[in-house]
Amino acid sequence: MEPIELTPEIRERLRAAARMVVFSGAGVSRESGLNTFRGAGGLWERMRPEELATPEAFRADPAKVWQWYAWRYGTVAAASPNPAHVAIARLESLFPSYIVVTQNVDGLHQRAGSRNLLELHGTITRAVCERCGRGREMGEAIAESPERPPLCVCGGRFRPAVVWFGEALPEEVFAQAHEAAATCDVFLSVGTSGTVWPAAGLIELAHGAGALFIEVNPEPTPFSRLADLRLAGPAGEAVPALADEIERSR
Ligand code: NAD
Repeated sequence: MEPIELTPEIRERLRAAARMVVFSGAGVSRESGLNTFRGAGGLWERMRPEELATPEAFRADPAKVWQWYAWRYGTVAAASPNPAHVAIARLESLFPSYIVVTQNVDGLHQRAGSRNLLELHGTITRAVCERCGRGREMGEAIAESPERPPLCVCGGRFRPAVVWFGEALPEEVFAQAHEAAATCDVFLSVGTSGTVWPAAGLIELAHGAGALFIEVNPEPTPFSRLADLRLAGPAGEAVPALADEIERSR
């Protein structure tokens, strides 16, 4: 990756910023060995997530969907945060207001030390009863019943605590993300294709409200043309380099 060259204007805006939002997608976890949904390779990757990560799929074949999540949970449990997650956590202490809004369900931001975090699409590390809402740890639920969703004491089925395609985002969580995007000074988008809505709308919202918009993604996205600064490299290299520059600017 090319070294980062900040213009004096961008450096000044980073120096003066009080509120920063980091918006992350599956690409931030790619270098932890977790595939994005559009990645290639492996048995389950030949399945279409849109056909498994839905309430309809779970109703039609709960065992198949549960096994897919058991496999995904295994890959997440075996993965570790990469330098991008670590750099994102490191920046938290530099701003009076700093929030990570993630579309990921893998829990790697928390494991890297991020504290102020909104998980827009829930988490694969928990299971929840679809009838009574009781929660439990996903690893325990899978250990108890690897082949099919275990049953709750109420008789309902456990499912992963994630937001499936076609389901609404948790209202309060999205409202907080909306507020953060609308009022931030710096909006850093990392490893998201900007194709999953309504989460992707946060980028336009922040840009429209006048935030400095920085994008990290090796590939162009529908939002690249809006970026004040675009870092076309892998997150594990680009984000630590950017974090160094931000630290220097403050
Ligand atoms: P996405 O919007 O998350 O797209 C992934 C993006 O990451 C692409 O634009 C790609 O160019 C970029 N990318 C790939 N490697 C990168 C790297 N090393 N550094 C930076 N960027 C990189 O879309 P998706 O993957 O199709 O996911 C759809 C939904 O499912 C999203 O909500 C996503 O977060 C979620 N998902 C989560 C996980 C996870 O929790 N790890 C994994 C797969 C999908």
